[in-house]
Amino acid sequence: MAKKVAVIGAGVSGLISLKCCVDEGLEPTCFERTEDIGGLWRFKENVEDGRASIYQSVITNTSKEMSCFSDFPMPEDFPNFLHNSKLLEYFRIFAKKFDLLKYIQFQTTVLSVKRCPDFSSSGQWEVFTESKGKEQSAIFDAIMVCSGHHILPRIPLESFPGIERFKGQYFHSRQYKNPDGLEGKQVLVIGIGNSASDIAVELSKKASQVFISTRQGSWVLSRISDCGYPWDMVFHTRFRSMLRNVLPRAVQKWMLERQMNQWFHHENYGLEPQNKYLMKEPVLNDDLPSRILYGAIKVKSRVTELTETSAIFEDGTVEEDIDVIVFATGYTFSFPFLEDSLVKVEDNMVSLYKYMFPPHLEKATLACIGLIQPLGSIFPTVELQARWVTRVFKGLCTLPSERAMMEDIIKRNKNRIDLFGESPSQILQTNYIDYLDELAAEIGAKPDLLSLLFKDPKLAVKLYFGPCNSYQYRLVGPGRWEGAKSAILSQKQRMLTPLKTRTLEPASNFPVSLLLKILGLLAVALAFFF
Ligand code: FAD
Ligand code: NAP
Repeated sequence: MAKKVAVIGAGVSGLISLKCCVDEGLEPTCFERTEDIGGLWRFKENVEDGRASIYQSVITNTSKEMSCFSDFPMPEDFPNFLHNSKLLEYFRIFAKKFDLLKYIQFQTTVLSVKRCPDFSSSGQWEVFTESKGKEQSAIFDAIMVCSGHHILPRIPLESFPGIERFKGQYFHSRQYKNPDGLEGKQVLVIGIGNSASDIAVELSKKASQVFISTRQGSWVLSRISDCGYPWDMVFHTRFRSMLRNVLPRAVQKWMLERQMNQWFHHENYGLEPQNKYLMKEPVLNDDLPSRILYGAIKVKSRVTELTETSAIFEDGTVEEDIDVIVFATGYTFSFPFLEDSLVKVEDNMVSLYKYMFPPHLEKATLACIGLIQPLGSIFPTVELQARWVTRVFKGLCTLPSERAMMEDIIKRNKNRIDLFGESPSQILQTNYIDYLDELAAEIGAKPDLLSLLFKDPKLAVKLYFGPCNSYQYRLVGPGRWEGAKSAILSQKQRMLTPLKTRTLEPASNFPVSLLLKILGLLAVALAFFF
């Protein structure tokens, strides 16, 4: 009999978990608190308790070719970076294509998840739910927790002495929807994550003045990289990842700083990170530097004190007449439906094997999906998590001993601090390709580049030097997809199609580069013979 799996939440993590359950012949039931799919990506005018809340203008900071699921490329005409409504459209097409909606019980909140009395032998769970005032429970063989981690605002008011005196308005970025009502105001935005930067830029077009206060600074990247390619198609290649892994730290540091300062000199804009050599999640914002250049946004240091109307900063400067403070200070998370000991959150930290499995359970029948912040897109990441987890549930993959898992957790945490630092915003941060490869290796879906080099050198070169997208993990192993190779070879086409909105006469391209190569070869030949 097929094992029954409860999936908690129908955001992107829940949807892909459902598909992976179906692919593995498991029997899933998804419980979703709200009336629809999409989680964070379903924009609403109002803020809802228990659900992530985004602003109207959110656009993805990971590109479509790097964010799609591995056997379902985004439609060719979709833009490279998607407005939230467009990404939701993709999830809707995806859910329809794989017939996932029939597994979802909407408006059903999971209240608690408890181990069955015979858990040590059965590994089963009792899931208690509430729907339209009616409480129910059912037994499941396994649980996939997909409830998101951008729901609970983190407002560290204790770090802002005088906030109780402040007479203006203040709120967390989660409450921000659009600039309406803030026209002509003086606004102070706290933090320099992606929320802070997006909100500061948007407000700077309506407010009289925007200040952005950062205690540590940040690297700011454009979504547009070399030759106009999306940044992540250039940054996340196996070749670059190898360089980052093998080069001495000093060389890496030099390269990182050089690369990050290529667009504009961060020091001149007051944005330079305090520790320049951490791989902290960068800000992706095409407008922030220009808004600073126009003076519409002023970068300030850490706030040391607030008065009734003003903010005092670490460097002693004071900004008067502040009307509004937006705390874009990130999120914390919790799992109110789980026993404390299962997934214990301490200082925003959890101890999960490979960010998924509680290491101390007698049976590996519960996993968290999406409790992670990869340096690249989260969508292929949660997909590989779900592919592995469902195979563990089926008994096709096994976990190491509790001791080995604990050792791995400790080691991983040390590496994380070393690479990304100790800021609360980096607690779930991971490397991208290394982590994807690690998960793919668990299920036998990691491409073998060496053997591919002999069988299909063109593809091998694409895999190594081209963007490391999710299709790479459908070339071999379980879940192999016939269309993977073609998707890899045609990604440039899908990237270019939405840009080709103006018909241009084909230019008579004189092959200068070819001519130069031939001349070069001739020169070498002449030098050889004479
Ligand atoms: P969510 O989308 O939060 O979904 C969780 C679901 O679980 C919700 O539908 C909720 O209603 C439901 N739920 C919660 N509790 C219960 C319960 N007890 N019972 C039943 N249902 C429950 N990542 C990228 O890779 N690229 C990006 O461009 C990007 N942009 C982002 C922009 C913003 C503003 C933010 C905040 C994050 C962004 N991220 C991005 C990261 C983001 O976490 C992921 O994109 C992704 O949406 C997370 O999906 P999820 O399914 O894990 O969680
Ligand atoms: P975040 O990345 O956690 O950033 C929080 C910011 O607040 C950091 O700059 C942090 O600074 C600062 N901060 C925290 N505590 C502070 C304090 N006491 N005093 C001063 N500053 C403090 O949160 P986020 O920006 O909301 O982003 C959450 C996730 O959503 C990220 O993964 C992000 O990429 C994603 N996101 C994406 C988009 C998009 O795609 N367009 C938009 C928004 C968000 P320190 O670093 O110094 O701690």
